[in-house]
Amino acid sequence: TAFVCMEGVGHKYDLSPNAPMAVQDINLNIHRHEFVAVVGPSGCGKSTLLRMVAGLLIPSHGSVSIFNNPVVEPRDDVGIVFQKANLLPWLNVKKNVLFPLKHKYGRYSKDDEKRADELLNMAGLSQFSEKMPDELSGGMQQRVGIVRALLLNPDILLMDEPFSALDALTREQIGFDLLKIWHEKPKTVLFITHSINEAVLLADRILVMSKRPGSVLDLIKVDLPRP
Ligand code: ADP
Ligand code: ADP
Repeated sequence: TAFVCMEGVGHKYDLSPNAPMAVQDINLNIHRHEFVAVVGPSGCGKSTLLRMVAGLLIPSHGSVSIFNNPVVEPRDDVGIVFQKANLLPWLNVKKNVLFPLKHKYGRYSKDDEKRADELLNMAGLSQFSEKMPDELSGGMQQRVGIVRALLLNPDILLMDEPFSALDALTREQIGFDLLKIWHEKPKTVLFITHSINEAVLLADRILVMSKRPGSVLDLIKVDLPRP
């Protein structure tokens, strides 16, 4: 069975009868540990799709489930990375990545700290763990955001254009770092991007969303061999 399953999913933000569907007729299965990228032009519904998997948006049509459970709210086992890391400016890098654990459980353990160090190291940030966010470049801040999401050890990682604010070179470097981390500990990943290059570099499978007049949605599946 698929890990993430969308059946007949569509969404209308505006429920008046003549309003257009933002997305429509999405049937999608993502398998456990699959890395799926979604590409498509602005406004085709990529973020809408991701927010429905995240439980941040309940679709007006169809159903979304994770491991056979309908998604009705955000889940602890689903991590999300947005375009901006939104780090807490008064905490250093390490405290930022540990913050969700602290917030959730009131504390974190020595093991959590060790894992934070490991992940920061894999993300090329070990020398920066005591720095404050505003001492880091945008690319580094994004990496910190990814490490923060991974530290919660989610089964599923959702990323909504995580690198789009970065320059091409930085994007590529972070992409490689992310791949390294992904190979160490595979996760089910849904990765939204404008960039077909990023999708080809990172994903097992690329979904192409397009928007024709009349707001019809196409999903085209391309299976890629992994390098
Ligand atoms: P993408 O992420 O591919 O740029 P979105 O999912 O953001 O696309 O948007 C898909 C469609 O839904 C667009 O037509 C957009 O204008 C509309 N839309 C997105 N968010 C909202 C919202 N909160 N309220 C109303 N319409 C929205
Ligand atoms: P891994 O060894 O890759 O970390 P887990 O220990 O997280 O995998 O999961 C082991 C098995 O438990 C999975 O193959 C799956 O069948 C099941 N499983 C994992 N996550 C869930 C979940 N959220 N709900 C139900 N079953 C799950």
